[in-house]
Order: sequence, then C-alpha cells, then structure tokens
Amino acid sequence: MTNPIVRFAPSPTGYLHVGNVRTALINWLFAKGQGGTFILRIDDTDLERSTAAYEQGIRDDLTWLGLSWGDTFKQSERFAQYDAAADKLRDMGLLYACYETAEELDRQRKLQRARGKPPIYNRAGLDLTDEEKAAYEAEGRKPHWRFKLSGERVVWNDLVRGEQAIETGSLSDPVLIRADGSYLYTLPSCVDDIDAGITHVVRGEDHVTNSGAQIEIFKALGGRAPEMAHTPLLVGADGASLSKRLGSLGMGELRKQGIEPLAICSLLAKLGTSDNVEIRESLDQLAEEFEFAKIGRAPARFDEADLKSLNAALTHTMSFEQAEARLAAIDPKAASETFWTLVRENCQTVEDAARFVPVAFGEITPVIEDEDRDFITAAAKLLPEGEMTADTWSDWTAALKAETGRKGKGLFMPLRKALTGMERGPSVGDMLVLMGRARALKRLG
Ligand code: GLU
Repeated sequence: MTNPIVRFAPSPTGYLHVGNVRTALINWLFAKGQGGTFILRIDDTDLERSTAAYEQGIRDDLTWLGLSWGDTFKQSERFAQYDAAADKLRDMGLLYACYETAEELDRQRKLQRARGKPPIYNRAGLDLTDEEKAAYEAEGRKPHWRFKLSGERVVWNDLVRGEQAIETGSLSDPVLIRADGSYLYTLPSCVDDIDAGITHVVRGEDHVTNSGAQIEIFKALGGRAPEMAHTPLLVGADGASLSKRLGSLGMGELRKQGIEPLAICSLLAKLGTSDNVEIRESLDQLAEEFEFAKIGRAPARFDEADLKSLNAALTHTMSFEQAEARLAAIDPKAASETFWTLVRENCQTVEDAARFVPVAFGEITPVIEDEDRDFITAAAKLLPEGEMTADTWSDWTAALKAETGRKGKGLFMPLRKALTGMERGPSVGDMLVLMGRARALKRLG
C-alpha cells in the first residue's frame, strides 16, 4: 500500500466531543501506523453556524490530545473549486436545477407515503424546459441543484463493515447546492478529497448512505473513490444512544476533571475492538496496534467509569516530569518528586494530589478516637528524636509495640488517623519523613 492520506473533517459549529474525537483518533492512528499523512479539514461551508472560536477550540483540543496534523485547510477558502466542480457536473448533465419549495416537496412526500410509495424525489426538475425554468425564475424562485444518481447499485468493500451495497435507485437525488447558492457538505467533501489525494475516507457509520452518492460523484469528477471505512457509532454504557451529556462531553470538561489525553485516546482507540481496553504507553503504541479489522460491527459502548479507571491507572505510574507543572499549580511545595512518587498511587488524577499537600506540608485536623488517646500520648513520647528518616517508622512502631502491646491494625490505624487525618492513603512512614518531626508531634497532641 502506498502511504495513506486521510483527513478528519469536523464542522466548526461546536466543540469536539468523544464521538468525533474517536473519528479523529482512528484516522490519526491509521495514518501514523502506515507512515501516512493526517490532514485536518475544517468543514465550514455553513458560514452562519461556523465560528472562529469553535475552529480554534477544535485545533486546541486536537493539539492537547496529541493528534497533530500534517496539513490543514478550510472549505470556506475553496468555493472556486466547488463552483468549477459544479459546472463540470452541470455540463455532464449530472447536476440539475429544481424549483420546488420545501412545502411542495413535503406535500409530495406525504402523498407518496399515503400511496404506499417510498418518498423519493420525482425528478421533475430533470424534465423542465427552458421556458418553465424561466417562468419559475420570473416568480422569484431560485433553483436548488440535485445530483443525478445512476440508479445503479454502488458497491464498495468497507474496511470495517465489509462489502457494502447502496441501491441508488432507492434514494432521492441529493441536493448539492441550496437555493441560496450555498453548498451542502456532499460535493465539497468529494472535491477536497480528490484534490488532497485522500486515499481513505474514515468516518462514522452515519455517513454510509452518503457514500453511495459520493462514490458516484468521485467517479463523475474523474477521480477514483477512496477506500472507505465507516465505524460504528458510540453508545452509552447501557447500549442506548449516548446521552445528551455524554454525547456532548467535551475535551474542555474532561481536562477540567483532570483526565489525561492518553486515557481518552487509549479508551477511544480500543472501544468496540477485539483488543483489551487498557492504558497504553503512547499514541505511537496505539498506532502500532491499530487495524481496521479489529473494529467490530457492534456499536462501541462508552462508559465514563472506564475513562476514570484508565486515568487512575495512568496516574498511578505517571512520571514526576509529566506531573510537575500541574503539581506546581496546586502548590509550589507539591512540585516535589518525593511527594509525587509517594502519593500518586492514591490519586485518580494529578489534581487529587492536592488532598495530601496539607498532610505533607501544612496543617490538618488529626483524628484521634477516645479509646486511642493514651496510645497516642505514648506514641508522642516515643517518637524518635532528630530528623525523620526512612527508618524512623519501623523503629518507632517497634518501640510502641513493646510498650503498649498493640500490633497490626490496632497499632497502625490510630497513628495513620492522627498523623494524616485519613483512614487511607500513602505509606504513613514515608509521609512522616515528609511532614517532619514538629508537625508529627503537634498532630499527636
Ligand atoms: N463534516 C462532516 C461531518 O462532520 C465530515 C464527514 C466526512 O468525514 O466526510 O460529519
């Protein structure tokens, strides 16, 4: 295979959410794994709904995720190319003017349904004479333009779904240009894919039907249709469609929750595939493991709980260098390698480390049960003098055991609660070294 060229083509009418990030990621991993090129195309032909802020948001999110692009362009810069392609189709008799209003089309469809017929456009536009067209224009109507489908069976070997066939005879000729002259997505996408030399169109399965018409457009414009891969959509953990909240779960929100890009990518790359959903070391590793053949046909179940547990797994082994800037943002004192290495296994996110900052470097409220008062007083007396070291804890607890006869949980838990204010957390002995003798003594009352 020659090096593939793929594209991710979001519309800047909103921010990226988990669904379209998955499409971006699959494109990226495929390109990376095959030494190909990943292009970012901004589908902003809908000039009214597209905004510069959304476009920037998309670029920022992809950058945050590590999904870098080799080239990027916007559809709004390419209207001249779309006009030329439309002219070409007109000359071939494959793009024809239609004058029906939305209400007229609606009435037609209702009538067809009432007669038990499929609501397919009746192609009245194809038979209009020049006089009839002139009469419509004189009424003030402007034409919209439809692509004339062949009526044949369009077949392709989808890299995810296997052999696909779309009977174009059962479809309405798609509108390519609206009456106000604006382009729907169908034609510009084909023109761009041809001009950019796209070898593989990889997108969600909601585009399968579009592919029938688009393959005919590719051929009409003289290009060969790219390979196609349509991935099953994401659904919620219960198998129902993604809830509105999850469906629009944006990268900004996940970032705020302390979710790591690699946790998102590991989950979205493996969901609905034959590989285990596990955290991976890097995007490169995900790319090496990527194969279309591993993607199943069933909808992929997206569960936020999986994301959280992958994120925790990633956090537990995260290097200090990776966490440092965010630890510093919590508290300059937290930007310490010793501290991070000690607490990370108790953190679901880097920001969770904040819980342990007062234990190590500040003030906490010690928890001392009434029945442990005397024990804690004894502990305070036996706390070794001098600097707290790696041996202090074992020396201290051995002495305490000998003195009080306590052992196991009865010995350790009261110390943990008094020194850290918590029942669970990192090793108390190691925390003791960090907090130092004066803080420890104060907590032991
Ligand atoms: N802008 C289109 C979408 O977001 C692109 C579809 C495609 O990849 O062809 O659905």
